[in-house]
Amino acid sequence: MRSSAVHRLQGVLVREAPATESVPAVFDSPHSGDAYPADFDHALEPDVLARAEDRFVHELFETVPRHGGVLLYALFPRSYIDVNRHSSDIDERLLDEPWPEAVEPSEKTRQGVGLLRRLAPGRRALYRRKLSVAEVQARIRDYYEPYHATLAEALADLHRRFGAVWHLNCHSMQSHGDGRRADFVLSDRLGASCERAFVDRIADYLSGAGFRVAVNDPYVGAEILRRYGRPEDRRHSLQIEIKRSLYMDERSLAKHAGFAHLARVLDGLIACVCAHARESGS
Ligand SMILES: [Zn+2]
Repeated sequence: MRSSAVHRLQGVLVREAPATESVPAVFDSPHSGDAYPADFDHALEPDVLARAEDRFVHELFETVPRHGGVLLYALFPRSYIDVNRHSSDIDERLLDEPWPEAVEPSEKTRQGVGLLRRLAPGRRALYRRKLSVAEVQARIRDYYEPYHATLAEALADLHRRFGAVWHLNCHSMQSHGDGRRADFVLSDRLGASCERAFVDRIADYLSGAGFRVAVNDPYVGAEILRRYGRPEDRRHSLQIEIKRSLYMDERSLAKHAGFAHLARVLDGLIACVCAHARESGS
């Protein structure tokens, strides 16, 4: 089975299977991709769009398979299409003709950061052209759907085998130069996407390691938690946002000297999630 340990869909995603005895835990990083598709045809310099990436997040979680969990990460950038939005969260002003199905633009679309971004960091227009319906449909079919299918299958497989599954949905956030901002924000859609014991365990671990942790403030979680978190069915999805200044220079977008330390802290966090899944799973 060694040959199937890493499943790669070129330019789209990587799924890494456990390298040791499996536990019912899945970690996914939907926004750390930086493989910009050739047909993106946006209007901005690369370093502007790079600020929208959750850069390095999948690297911070690279030890997941060694703890028995599944690691999934996107290779394409969130600015191309955002898997953490509903597929109908579309801004029709970006299109050269009406969307052929129902659109349900959310507050995120109104802010310019729906399924397809209208605005890049710095509130600059992402495109100087209209997108065709066909190219957006292709982004959904070739990137959005494979990501969700792979995540859904990983969760369903473990839930079938263990009767429960724990999922950490991993992101990074800008510090906004605000020293008072929490180091980590955990989100569970105000209790709707996972059991409280899971939130508490992760929060206790991070607080114990000396970090400031906030819960559901200012983020409550988005589409991925909405889709997969079903605590009443023992499917627990928790979102974590890591403050970028803990591991990278937010101006140059390069790792800084704190990266290695944070990676060790997160290795402990991964161990904590996997222990919780092992002890709580049946
Ligand atoms: Zn993110």
